Amino acid sequence: AKAAGRGRHRFFEPAMEEQLRVQQTLKADLGRAMQNSEFELAFQPIIDLGSNQVRSFEALLRWRHPGQGCISPETFIALAEETGLIIPLGEWVLHRACAAAAIWRKGIRVAVNLSSGQFQSSDLPEAVADALAKTGLAPDMLELEITESVLLQHSETNLQTLKRLRELGVRIALDDFGTGYSSLSYLQRFPFNRIKVDRSFVMELPGHEESEVIVRAITDLGRSLGMAVTAEGVETRQQLDALRARGCDEAQGYFFSKPIAVEEIDGCLTRLEAA
Ligand code: C2E
Ligand code: CA
Ligand code: CA
Ligand code: CA
Repeated sequence: AKAAGRGRHRFFEPAMEEQLRVQQTLKADLGRAMQNSEFELAFQPIIDLGSNQVRSFEALLRWRHPGQGCISPETFIALAEETGLIIPLGEWVLHRACAAAAIWRKGIRVAVNLSSGQFQSSDLPEAVADALAKTGLAPDMLELEITESVLLQHSETNLQTLKRLRELGVRIALDDFGTGYSSLSYLQRFPFNRIKVDRSFVMELPGHEESEVIVRAITDLGRSLGMAVTAEGVETRQQLDALRARGCDEAQGYFFSKPIAVEEIDGCLTRLEAA
């Protein structure tokens, strides 16, 4: 393996080597980030398009790296999966998100993203039950978001995990819908509470015919299967109007609010509900 590693090494461009080095440094830093309390949660409101009320907040993880500033989860989740940190980190996220939702205004849910490694871990239902018990959050107020790509493999085990989570009384959303492959068969086999239309389709509304057709198909599908449909990444009034016209139930995006700190939630609710 060592020889193969060295052999492979020769083919790397200098830029790739640099990238690899940066990744390895980050990976090492990640190990200390938890003890050093470098993680935070940001919350982004999700709005009901019928009543214009805030229905939930999605918890989004932030890493405040001492040298490099805020690092996106898109960069470090994969690293956390490689090192195994994703399990304690995921539990921390669950606990913090539930604790926040337990004290904000009653009836507003919290949505928590699950990574592949977390979802594949046999202790996940236990960790979820533990977070609910310790924070006193009603199970129905927690929604877990999993992406289509997470469901690609191990379909029987995945189905069992989804069922165990459902038995706890939490809700399950299928995230980034439309970007993967397994979606249709999964929708048929498992009753998700919600599907989230990926931002890549929302971005091109209105006017881009292909995205118009896809968004309409997803909202129709959601309605006929009894699943709520949320659009993510809404940035403009035009996108919002197009989504509303297509029967989308809820929306989130910079048009309403960027992800905010927990202290800003009351102000955000006041602002959005006065609008
Ligand atoms: P996601 O679940 O699809 O989350 C939506 C992403 O879009 C977030 O990026 C959010 O800040 C961003 N966003 C929201 N509204 C807009 C908009 O109007 N325009 C644009 N351009 N972007 C918008 P973020 O926070 O960087 O998170 C990226 C991804 O990292 C998430 O994608 C999710 O898959 C993952 N992630 C975030 N937090 C966690 C976590 O606690 N655990 C796990 N496992 N994954 C997480
Ligand atoms: Ca999400
Ligand atoms: Ca998403
Ligand atoms: Ca996404």
